[in-house]
Amino acid sequence: MPVSTYQGSMAGNRSSTATEGLPPAPAPPVEAAARKRQAGQIVRYLAKEYPEAACALVHRNPFELLVATILSAQCTDERVNLVTKDLFKKYPDAEAFAAAPLAAIEKAIKSTGFFRNKAKSIKACSTALVEQYGGDVPQELASLVRLAGVGRKTANVVLGVAFGQATGVVVDTHVGRLSRRLGLTAETDAVKVEAELMHLLPKKEWIDFSHRMIYHGRQVCLARRPRCESCVMLSICPRVGVER
Ligand code: SF4
Repeated sequence: MPVSTYQGSMAGNRSSTATEGLPPAPAPPVEAAARKRQAGQIVRYLAKEYPEAACALVHRNPFELLVATILSAQCTDERVNLVTKDLFKKYPDAEAFAAAPLAAIEKAIKSTGFFRNKAKSIKACSTALVEQYGGDVPQELASLVRLAGVGRKTANVVLGVAFGQATGVVVDTHVGRLSRRLGLTAETDAVKVEAELMHLLPKKEWIDFSHRMIYHGRQVCLARRPRCESCVMLSICPRVGVER
């Protein structure tokens, strides 16, 4: 099952595709300067290919995005959007979630998987928002990551999408996989991948870069069978880990 754009697992490079007939892949960039150049090229290709790429989680405000992002762990965006459609009608804000019985939240979000942990996080997070921030979502990374169920990735999503603040690069399964295939990093740990990407990319690209890599990962550079033959980055991609 495909999982959310923001789900946290880091799939490896288990790629297998018939790449016969394709031109040989260029060598992966080694020096820092070469990787920076590679990152710049990728930014340009992706911007041209996906000028409108955006977050696929439906939300009307930062709080809804926060809840949707928590729900998106190991779940498709489509499923999350289906669930939140009714969920946010029933529980429109942090106060409503804080007051709701845990079992009721669990029942409402069950189909997103890992529902017990997610319900616990959403209720605890909502309670903290009510008690400490008047029900609003704080706009600082340090405050966000102290909330239940909110890690650096979720905080980056909320700050980037809801507040337009580039505090980091959202590294989900797609961003991690593509970054390795494209030779930007050899790291498999999301935090380390993010640190490398933050170093390679200009800050103004951090938010859009993630959205576009996720689009590309879903449509072209698929986990199991990347469609290299129809990829706009074929000529610059070292295809690291892709079966030849
Ligand atoms: S689909 Fe594109 S980005 Fe992915 S490995 Fe193939 S050439 Fe590289």
